[in-house]
Amino acid sequence: MHLVTTVAGVRSRRRELWRAGRTVAFVPTMGALHAGHLSLVDHAAGLADEVWASVFVNPAQFGPGEDLDAYPRDLERDRALLEERGVRLLFAPSAKEMYRRPAVVRVAVPELSAGLCGAHRPGHFDGVALVVTKLLNVVQPEVLVLGAKDWQQSVVIRRLVDDLDIPVRVEVAPTVREADGLAMSSRNAYLLGDDRERATVVRRALRAGAELIMAGERSRATVEAAMAGVVAAEPPARLQYTAVVDPQTLVPRDPIAGPSSLLAMAVTIGTTRLIDNLLVESERC
Ligand code: AMP
Repeated sequence: MHLVTTVAGVRSRRRELWRAGRTVAFVPTMGALHAGHLSLVDHAAGLADEVWASVFVNPAQFGPGEDLDAYPRDLERDRALLEERGVRLLFAPSAKEMYRRPAVVRVAVPELSAGLCGAHRPGHFDGVALVVTKLLNVVQPEVLVLGAKDWQQSVVIRRLVDDLDIPVRVEVAPTVREADGLAMSSRNAYLLGDDRERATVVRRALRAGAELIMAGERSRATVEAAMAGVVAAEPPARLQYTAVVDPQTLVPRDPIAGPSSLLAMAVTIGTTRLIDNLLVESERC
């Protein structure tokens, strides 16, 4: 596996692949890899000749007071895991390499970034949109593979790629979970002692909401209140938001109608922020 830290290095390797007529599926990450990230690599392997990945903790998507400095980093471990999984190139730039000078260009998808996580992390999706645009321009992959765990992010990026005519196919792979249902996340490493067990409250709340919808409930307020109730029963877990939305437009579903709805939520336990979502096929119920 090639470990490349510069934009020029990636471009040069990419030119070689074009000459050889080989395609690339790309998996961007912030590192501290877990089985969820590795499942994206496996997914990508079936979609192109080579899988390339990146590890970059993007300062532009962290707000003031968020965990940019504390975010877990272990490039050597990540490198070994990706190599073992068959990744052919790992792009691991420094912040200075990605942002050679302060970015004055803004990339934003405001309509899709305003609600859900965006309402609680101002500027977050602008930072994501900027770095993904830059990474796509550097790597120029045929396929981009993202995880369904960050559903809003995948919706923002799909729209970004479509509106800017970026020539890449976006694929979204399913969420990988721990045995007790907790969605895998690099931030789960922050959960110590009883908090790790309490974190299952997110999945339990989503399931409670889904069960109501499957039983015929069509009031968004009732479903969201039920989800909030599950979280309230598990202090010190605190609800940040619950939402029942159209999976493509992220517009709230009220009443809950249409072929499927997305239940999404964010919960904090201490300083750890957990997000998850569940797609419910409402029409068949
Ligand atoms: P991150 O390193 O958290 O920025 O995530 C990098 C990519 O991995 C994103 O496309 C995430 O949606 C995806 N991802 C993170 N956690 C999971 C998971 N548990 N299952 C599947 N994909 C995931």
